[in-house]
Amino acid sequence: MRPVSLSPLFAPIQSLTGIGPRLAKVLGKLLPATHTAPEPRVIDLLWHTPTGVIDRRAAPSLSDATPGTIATVHVRVLKHLRPPRSNKRAPYKVRCEDDTARLDLVFFRAEPSFVERQLPVGEMRYVSGRIERYGEVLQMAHPDYIIAPDKRDELPLLEPVYPLTAGLTGKVLIKASRQALQRLPQLSEWQEPNWLVSKNWPDFHPALHHIHQPSKPDDVSAADPARQRLAFDELLASQLALGLVRENYKSQSGRAIQGTGKRAQKIQTALPFSLTQSQVAAISDIAQDMASERRMLRLLQGDVGSGKTVVALMAMVAAVEAGTQAALMAPTEVLARQHFETINPLAQAANITIEVLTGREKGKTRQQILDRAASGDIDILIGTHAIFQDDVQFQDLALAVIDEQHRFGVHQRLALQAKGKSGGANVLVMTATPIPRTLLMTHYGDLDVSKLTEKPAGRKPVETRSVMTERLEEVIEGLRRAISSGAQVYWVCPLIETSDTSELAAAEERHAHLTQIFGDQVGLLHGGMASKQKSAIMTAFSDGLLKVLVATTVIEVGVNVPNATIMVIEHAERFGLAQLHQLRGRVGRGERQSYCILLYQAPLGETARKRLDMLRKTEDGFLIAEKDLELRGGGEVLGARQSGLPEFRVAEVPGWTDLLKAARDDAKLILSQDPQLTSPRGEALRTLLYLFECDEAIRLFRAG
Ligand code: ADP
Ligand code: MG
Repeated sequence: MRPVSLSPLFAPIQSLTGIGPRLAKVLGKLLPATHTAPEPRVIDLLWHTPTGVIDRRAAPSLSDATPGTIATVHVRVLKHLRPPRSNKRAPYKVRCEDDTARLDLVFFRAEPSFVERQLPVGEMRYVSGRIERYGEVLQMAHPDYIIAPDKRDELPLLEPVYPLTAGLTGKVLIKASRQALQRLPQLSEWQEPNWLVSKNWPDFHPALHHIHQPSKPDDVSAADPARQRLAFDELLASQLALGLVRENYKSQSGRAIQGTGKRAQKIQTALPFSLTQSQVAAISDIAQDMASERRMLRLLQGDVGSGKTVVALMAMVAAVEAGTQAALMAPTEVLARQHFETINPLAQAANITIEVLTGREKGKTRQQILDRAASGDIDILIGTHAIFQDDVQFQDLALAVIDEQHRFGVHQRLALQAKGKSGGANVLVMTATPIPRTLLMTHYGDLDVSKLTEKPAGRKPVETRSVMTERLEEVIEGLRRAISSGAQVYWVCPLIETSDTSELAAAEERHAHLTQIFGDQVGLLHGGMASKQKSAIMTAFSDGLLKVLVATTVIEVGVNVPNATIMVIEHAERFGLAQLHQLRGRVGRGERQSYCILLYQAPLGETARKRLDMLRKTEDGFLIAEKDLELRGGGEVLGARQSGLPEFRVAEVPGWTDLLKAARDDAKLILSQDPQLTSPRGEALRTLLYLFECDEAIRLFRAG
């Protein structure tokens, strides 16, 4: 169990003074949801670190103040100049002075009672904000702080600046993180004392204080020792967790699952194509893993369209041939159904029973599926997260396949695996994101990997062009010609980082625009739609009823419509390289020449230009992934966000590769000396694992 002393940190964020349901919701948008907690908690604030400081230390007399800079001045309140009733737009001014000059504090649309309370005539106040010159007069519009002399301490001379989101002010975050810090219990040190000394790193507690309550502008820099220490803490936690899981995995024996090859043969005959060499190799890797006594944990990497599904199918068929069951899990309803549609005819050819289970199956239908899975009547169950639920039981699950791993948390993988007999199914994870080796090691440790490197036969390269947004009309003209000769088009709308509503608005607007031109052949697909609605639109598109599909990035995940040959990406400069590559992979799946049109807003920044160039030059996903890392460089290099891997909270600092190496060595040493983490340092390290929510590793302790 998590130590009780940590409970206040894992309480919902609403338990903090000043955070109600509204702010909690806003904070939910800002703080990354973890797989263990969709709602933000107090601890999430501790990992939300400042990116800069506002320096309020300058405290000039008014005559010395430099207009355009932030200053903290000490002034006497002279009089209030309210706006006339007839003119609500006029600002409310408060005239102040010190011994050297006058300063007008200016409030637009102010609540008069608020201003009166803050600034009583005749009293002294510390006021901090940006000083401006307005004609001959010094002004400060909407001071950031107005503080009575006896409360001077409340004025942060170096104010941390946090990444914000709409509806949230820095002040709220400052107050909330201050409270979060107060909830930190005293914790025993988990790092080697000598190591800390040699690196000149502070203790954990002071390190967090240092970062959230900076006393020098440099304190918030990612190169600061406090940040480095926290980064190392997180890396050590993740390496320890991986080490523990790996040890545990090795120590448990699986069972040998060997297919007869009979049904596999039938399916191969029913396939309208022959397998590529790398598909054959992957199928054989998997068969070997399953046939061994060891449990399989294999990653199947292959670009979009490289044909991972059929590899998964052959693996599942082997499980069925051995008299066991298999499950295939997709991240969305659309994908789960698509898998079902693809696999069902083939399965029927081999007399294999398959079913689909998503959130849509309810009541009786659902119960029937559950019963049939539990009795062993269903050989292969395909579905979404619905498969994780506790009441889904198998008679004998020997293989769990997870498509597009990055959409699932690690714990979900475990949950599915645990549905196997004696808690251990073989696991095959499939991802279309080519993950460079370093990243794999960081996040998964030693995982077996198969790669699909060739494109299936008959695929033509996608012709990729970048086009300025100004030439939108020409692009649309081109589409008109293409559509009239039978082509179908994906149109992806820009990614807008700050808000989902405006992302949606952009897509709706484009949909309306294209509908004016192409009529009711244009469909719209976005993340906010009900799943039923989504699959109806997808079906209409794949049946060719819709010619143009306007979508937000939801189509990033693998939908397969071979007749779609044109991919238009609006504001391509806002997407990451890996993401653009994924999107492009939606086309080029059929016989016809495909095109990818990258619409960009000029002028392009250096990195954006390199990205688009790279994309035009190659379709090799692994090359693109490496280049992507290189282009993003520095702080983003861990790249979790874009590659879809689980995110680090604070590990993204300069020099992380060296830290990672050290953390890996350290973890190895620790586990060789204290494999169950029972020594005093081991106990402290368990707390570290809890802090960083390495629940996968923690589960193992509970079990053992
Ligand atoms: P992904 O790896 O993106 O999941 P899919 O498994 O969906 O790719 O395969 C994409 C398309 O390629 C499907 O229509 C599938 O039938 C087809 N395909 C798979 N393997 C081959 C092959 N060896 N030759 C030709 N087409 C293939
Ligand atoms: Mg796929």
